[in-house]
Amino acid sequence: MTRVNTVLGTIPAAELGIVAIHEHIGYGMPGSELDTQWWKSPEQAYEETVPKLRKFHEYGGRTFVDVTGICNGRDPNYYQSLSAKTGVNIIACTGFVGGDTALPHFSRATVDYLAKVFIHEITVGIGNTGAKAGVIKVGVSRGGKMTELDRRIYRAGARAAVVTGVPILTHLAIDPEPAVAIFKEEGLDLDRVLFGHADDGLNAPITPHDYIYEQGGRIGFDTFGYDLELPDPPFWGRKRTERVAHFKRLVDKGYTDKLMVGVDANCSPLGWPGVKGHTVNYLFEDMIPDLKAAGIDDQTLHHLLVDSPAEFLGMKN
Ligand SMILES: [Zn+2]
Repeated sequence: MTRVNTVLGTIPAAELGIVAIHEHIGYGMPGSELDTQWWKSPEQAYEETVPKLRKFHEYGGRTFVDVTGICNGRDPNYYQSLSAKTGVNIIACTGFVGGDTALPHFSRATVDYLAKVFIHEITVGIGNTGAKAGVIKVGVSRGGKMTELDRRIYRAGARAAVVTGVPILTHLAIDPEPAVAIFKEEGLDLDRVLFGHADDGLNAPITPHDYIYEQGGRIGFDTFGYDLELPDPPFWGRKRTERVAHFKRLVDKGYTDKLMVGVDANCSPLGWPGVKGHTVNYLFEDMIPDLKAAGIDDQTLHHLLVDSPAEFLGMKN
């Protein structure tokens, strides 16, 4: 049986239950923690986050995959305490949301150095927290094309994934050709990569879903809930019915095995107010009912939320 690193220890993948695959406990831009205007007390962070995770658990949610990269507010000690208090498994990541969120210490580093950092965080732990990373995050910088630094991070991520057997989640699925080339060169099976944000309003039209599927990659519909119907929708918002219809089209094409769903929640945003009216519980309160109404049956939902994530998150080594 394959196993998965959570912040409180390594558990069998079969025990993950319902998984929210691409989420954030608290996400912000590097440096926001230095901005007086945005200083947040621990009390406030707990107050904003604990009720959401408790509700998630009440609904049947068991695992929260936090893909807040190094430099974006990742805080493993805090995750450990949240997990212990709420009973929700939290999986932390190593890696970066994108080259443009890596601070100079990392952005100037070689592929070898970055790979060593990632492997250490997965096999030994993140700093002295005792928490081991369970997934690797990489991503495409703003601008729509992979930068030289993005490529360096993708290559280091691929090496770490090959050595440790943990999977990779990407921020954005646009411009995937260079990513696919790097993963192939490094000998990483594309089934170990979830190309994320394939569904958001800004990027869905320029994401080559069929190409990713044909290469064997997984496709993340992980921004459910960032709907244009929100009172103050974000720039990556999308019409709710349009996202569901798009997802259903891929299911009907037979892509289910390669699809995963999430809501990109940001429980307690750092350095910005976040998107009002959106929480991780959109998954239970809106997404599942919408998918059911669109004709997606219980068996398929179970596959999307339990079986596929367990298969994907389980370490292959
Ligand atoms: Zn995200």
